[in-house]
Amino acid sequence: MSDCLVSENHELKDIVDKVMKGERLSRQDAIRLYKSDDLLTVGRLAEYARARAAGAGKEKHVYYIHNMHLNPTNFCVETCRFCSYANPVEREKAYTWSVDRVLQEAGRGAALGINEIHMVGGLNPACDLNYYEEVLQAIKADYPQIHMKAFTAVEIEYLANLEGLSYEEVLQRLIKAGLGSMPGGGAEIFDEEVRERMAVKKTPAPVYLEIHGIAHKLGLKSNATMLTGISETVENKVDHMLLLREQQDKSGGFQCFIPLKCYYEGTDIEPEVHEPTAQDLLKDVAVSRLVLDNFPHIKAYWIQLGVELAQLALSFGADDMDGTIGEEKITHAAGAKTPLQLAKERMEELISSSGYQPVERDTIYNIKAVSSTAPKAVPPLQERLAVIV
Ligand code: SF4
Repeated sequence: MSDCLVSENHELKDIVDKVMKGERLSRQDAIRLYKSDDLLTVGRLAEYARARAAGAGKEKHVYYIHNMHLNPTNFCVETCRFCSYANPVEREKAYTWSVDRVLQEAGRGAALGINEIHMVGGLNPACDLNYYEEVLQAIKADYPQIHMKAFTAVEIEYLANLEGLSYEEVLQRLIKAGLGSMPGGGAEIFDEEVRERMAVKKTPAPVYLEIHGIAHKLGLKSNATMLTGISETVENKVDHMLLLREQQDKSGGFQCFIPLKCYYEGTDIEPEVHEPTAQDLLKDVAVSRLVLDNFPHIKAYWIQLGVELAQLALSFGADDMDGTIGEEKITHAAGAKTPLQLAKERMEELISSSGYQPVERDTIYNIKAVSSTAPKAVPPLQERLAVIV
């Protein structure tokens, strides 16, 4: 396969050989992949790695989940520059739902047959550990079938500081109340200089990684993210991935890596200076698939990428389209123009028309149903790429 993928004198030939042999890529390899102009080869290599990681019979599987997002509060004591939650206009509109209101919203999702609630919110002193225990208990009492994926490492750190408890004590109490797994948000970019420029005071890399490590030790699965478009360099992105890979070697509970991009509405960041191109976003997906050799899944988060680019990202190493979502608030507060939700049928159509097999999963990647909608024939990657980039 190596021979047919690139010629002997191709600039990436040694990296291609490493991937074919299943060897781990170095920091320098990852930087070269990012800096290569041959996007097509990087994509094909990631596609190869994706199919190999999927295992026999699942090479074309692309996963999605029937879920909803719940954001019980959009008030946040932090002031990260890239976050619309922190701007004065959003602050004026800030809401904090009662436990009953959260339960009512969950009921709307339950009526649609969702399997998962993805619940995250701002850092709000009114939403303390007791409040979240009550929320989890109330939802699990009424809808025991729904998996609660909730609380970023940032929220766990905040609750621990608010209550004077350890991260482990907070997680143990939330697990007892019904927490099923953790999302990956809040990692942003681990590099301290970028974080300083972006006024990110919360959860530095060692804390983020420690909290996920504790969660894994307690039996929770979790995800990990990386935010781009906030003045980071290629080297910052690679170092971010390497720290995650190292943590995964130790604790093993990450399921999925999710590259995210900044949306700028309501922030003072200049998109014309920092906004990633479509090529940049496809590289994030492809390079993460190749570097994070111990992460089973890479997500094409359609809410952020937009539907067309998310479809193309499936041929760049992603094997998950996230979920039907219900109503997404965070990215849309910052100007995302993607739809607020996608019906299951539409999600399956998007996956199959990209040449892949739609598979409905639960939160921890048990297969719920392999769709009867088979993968459709698609034009060669080069042609599909030319339409978008
Ligand atoms: S990114 Fe998170 S911590 Fe920062 S202001 Fe927004 S909600 Fe708060």
